[in-house]
Amino acid sequence: MAIDKEKIKQAIRLLLEGIGEDPDREGLRETPDRVARMWEEFEKQRSFNFKTFEEFGSYNEMVLVKDISIYSLCEHHLLPFFGKAHIAYIPDGIVCGLSKLVRTLRVFALRPQVQERLTNQIADFLVQKLNPKGVAVVLEMEHMCMSMRGVMSPGHLTVTSALRGVFLSDLRTREEFLKLIDKKSL
Ligand SMILES: [Zn+2]
Repeated sequence: MAIDKEKIKQAIRLLLEGIGEDPDREGLRETPDRVARMWEEFEKQRSFNFKTFEEFGSYNEMVLVKDISIYSLCEHHLLPFFGKAHIAYIPDGIVCGLSKLVRTLRVFALRPQVQERLTNQIADFLVQKLNPKGVAVVLEMEHMCMSMRGVMSPGHLTVTSALRGVFLSDLRTREEFLKLIDKKSL
């Protein structure tokens, strides 16, 4: 779905009025446009070409990219949640560049989200694209809506995981993954 910048601008102006601000004062005058351009930027980052390579028999061990910085927005408050992502897969003849794993995160993170769904969407996308022996995605994120409002509990992390294929069925594979991301359990 394309971004409707005019609609976003109107909405942000209304929001500012709704909280008792003057949208025409100097610091806020450009804010509706800035917010609209920000969403346009998010939309651009969401599309990329997920290129894969066929490499039968060459590498069938675990590929892990860990500690990837990830930023998203909770769909309940439109406040950021952010932290680290760890993504692993075990190829079955099809591989992708490591940067594609990072780009995949952004596709699903740069939209209103909940962490549980975000985790599953990343895993399911990689299953669909790579048809691997297994995929594991772990997200450790701090939610601003819990840190600066509500329970006001800053600094704690919400951990979610999505395991597919051998990461579910094979205990040794799962343990190896957990060890590599410095976790004892999920
Ligand atoms: Zn929230």
